[in-house]
Amino acid sequence: MEIDFLIIGQGLAGTALGYRLIKEGKSVMLFDQPDQNKSSRIAAGLYNPVTGRKMVKTWMGEILFPEIQPFYRELEELTGSSFLNSRKIYRPFLSIEEQNEWMGHSSDPDIQQFIEKIYTESQYPELKDPFGGVLLKMSGWLDINQLLDKMAEFFQDRLVKEEFEEEALNQESFGWNYRGVQAKKLIYCNGVAAQNSRFFSFLPFAPVKGEILEVVQSFNPEFIVNRGVFRVPLGNGTFRVGSTYTWHDLDQGPTETARKELLEKLTEVVKVEVNEVTSHKFGIRPATKDRKPFLGKHPTEESVYIFNGFGAKGVSLIPYFSQQMVEYLLDSKPLVKEVDIKRYFKYI
Ligand SMILES: Cc1cc2nc3c(=O)[nH]c(=O)nc-3n(C[C@H](O)[C@H](O)[C@H](O)COP(=O)(O)OP(=O)(O)OC[C@H]3O[C@@H](n4cnc5c(N)ncnc54)[C@H](O)[C@@H]3O)c2cc1C
Repeated sequence: MEIDFLIIGQGLAGTALGYRLIKEGKSVMLFDQPDQNKSSRIAAGLYNPVTGRKMVKTWMGEILFPEIQPFYRELEELTGSSFLNSRKIYRPFLSIEEQNEWMGHSSDPDIQQFIEKIYTESQYPELKDPFGGVLLKMSGWLDINQLLDKMAEFFQDRLVKEEFEEEALNQESFGWNYRGVQAKKLIYCNGVAAQNSRFFSFLPFAPVKGEILEVVQSFNPEFIVNRGVFRVPLGNGTFRVGSTYTWHDLDQGPTETARKELLEKLTEVVKVEVNEVTSHKFGIRPATKDRKPFLGKHPTEESVYIFNGFGAKGVSLIPYFSQQMVEYLLDSKPLVKEVDIKRYFKYI
């Protein structure tokens, strides 16, 4: 079999890129190992234009955020399903100083576009918001599992649910032969597993473990609460609560420490009792040392590419950067410098 692109990994990155290449008329095959520790299947799927402890506009937010809805809505239409949940985010203020700071932000054109409303007094007896809070817009969450399952149906027999074994690759004049599949180009979308690849182990990945819970609680607003933890309404009184960030003990499964941490942080913001914890999962984010994605071509190997390193923000980064990657692959359009893996070639 002869194909244009062999993609390793059908997480959010491989799925978006595979779809865009197929749309451009290219032949694609994806390999995905169902038992690998995938990040996309665990993620909360949040997209939030104002992030971080200091609540600043997310990197390239003005370019990335307008791409989010059109891209995921296109996939919804393609698959006849629904996985993008546009939801406002409510962030309670902890002090009068914070309230003042946000009042100041509201005239900053960079941030203003993402603010729906600022409240200066408590809005909900169920929440600890004595100084009010800010309601953010252009935000929400993506049901990534649903998206991946539906797109797997779209890919049909272009998706092989098997482990890709690099040792079985052979270089040929046309590109690469993988167990009889003749691929012109290889693209690594395999999340943290790319660290162990013979091609990309030189890249400074900085994997981050995250744990996440699902809980049942009786306070049921439509918005996402975000303060120390986020609380995403899933329906039927169930909420996703996360996430932790750890750079060690990556091989350990879900821990009691993380469960405690998440529940404590939740009670610091939502006063209502947790009736039940129905799920506790962990995943490893494919994060990078400089917190920017890894896109581009291997420095010496012909036809070997990477589309990876989306860290904690795959949902908002992937719509825009999958389009950039396609234009780079098909039209040799240069990549944004900050994401091009060329920035690390001096370390080889
Ligand atoms: C707890 C947690 C919470 C998160 N919350 C959010 C959030 O709210 N918002 C957000 O934007 N992001 C969030 N993320 C991050 C998000 O999951 C990632 O940015 C994104 O999903 C990465 O997608 P990916 O396709 O690059 O990697 P992955 O999802 O890891 O996909 C890689 C795929 O490659 C496959 N693979 C690996 N090796 C092989 C092989 N040898 N053969 C075949 N297949 C292979 C894996 O099985 C996997 O399916 C969170 C992550 C975690 C862990």
